[in-house]
Amino acid sequence: KPKSVINFSAGPAKLPEAVLAYAQKELLDHEGSGVSVMEMSHRSSEFSKILNNAEKSLRELINVPDNYKILFLQGGGSGQFSAIPLNLLALKSGHSADYIVTGSWSAKAAQEAEKYGTVNYVVPKKKKYTSIEDHSTWKLNPDASYVYYCANETIDGVEFQFVPQTNGVPLVCDMSSNFLSRHIDVTKFGVIFAGAQKNIGCAGVTAVIIREDLIGFAMKVCPVIFDFKIQAGNNSLYNTPPTYSIYIMGLVFNWIQEQGGVDKMEQNAVQKSGLIYDLIDNSEGFYNCPLDRDCRSRMNIPIRIGSEAGDEALEKEFAKESTEKGFLQLKGHRSVGGIRVSLYNAVTVEETRRLVTFMIDFQERHR
Ligand code: PMP
Repeated sequence: KPKSVINFSAGPAKLPEAVLAYAQKELLDHEGSGVSVMEMSHRSSEFSKILNNAEKSLRELINVPDNYKILFLQGGGSGQFSAIPLNLLALKSGHSADYIVTGSWSAKAAQEAEKYGTVNYVVPKKKKYTSIEDHSTWKLNPDASYVYYCANETIDGVEFQFVPQTNGVPLVCDMSSNFLSRHIDVTKFGVIFAGAQKNIGCAGVTAVIIREDLIGFAMKVCPVIFDFKIQAGNNSLYNTPPTYSIYIMGLVFNWIQEQGGVDKMEQNAVQKSGLIYDLIDNSEGFYNCPLDRDCRSRMNIPIRIGSEAGDEALEKEFAKESTEKGFLQLKGHRSVGGIRVSLYNAVTVEETRRLVTFMIDFQERHR
């Protein structure tokens, strides 16, 4: 029977029901071991299997080449805002990095990097993030240690539909909110990281994929748990890792594989976001998305209701009615207002259709 609520949260977010049901089924007894995954030593053979299988599945899902290490770390996406400069700024003597700031999260990452070195802002700073400047206008520094960007800005809804060209400078990407929702060519990146709590699991673990030649440059002040060389040398087991979060993440990887892999996730993402953008474009200005078309996110869609600036009373009414009807967590981030529809991998096409039906009905009643 269909669930009475649909979770459109921006994160932590909806998980596939099959994953939760499986975890529930073996909550007290993992594969006949007699204990829960939560109670297992991180150095046990059972947990080693869980960890190695998660890594193996991720390698298969996006073809991670052998010269890349995969780490499962704590500290979230924000931890990587620090870990990236601490590990990579010293790649070159200038200790300078290029940041392409296209939204709130890349802005935060740049701000954190400023503590440790020089940050070059590649595109002009702005108050509202709704576009990506043309590549030809970017001010890239050829001597930068790395170029940083966020593939999908969860709050603002700015998503790159291309991979930036950096002329050989290592490219670092925060894929927290669109990881495994679209095809990627890992070889174009120096480092990819993604907090798990949107598309690949529950909070607590961050996947980091890093090219081997970029490992070993950590600054002296880098906390040991964030040192890529130490963590890679210990297979992410330098200290106790977030064992249960890694287990859930592994189950999500298996689920993606069963569904047909990242290609299938991407097909779904195109279809689901298309349903919402079509609704917006056909609403005669009732629903408004502030984003330029070429950077509209497939994962997080910010919407203003009633007018481009948003009619706050109407938006409040939308939040109230939608929640009553079981469409959860549609209120926009407080910094941009309005509503936000998050369509991560676990949200189905059918669930998206049900939301569209509600939104059309809402428009009919409030236009
Ligand atoms: N990057 C992106 C794109 C995010 O959406 C978030 C959190 N929503 C973060 C980084 C920060 O992640 P965390 O809360 O795990 O530190």
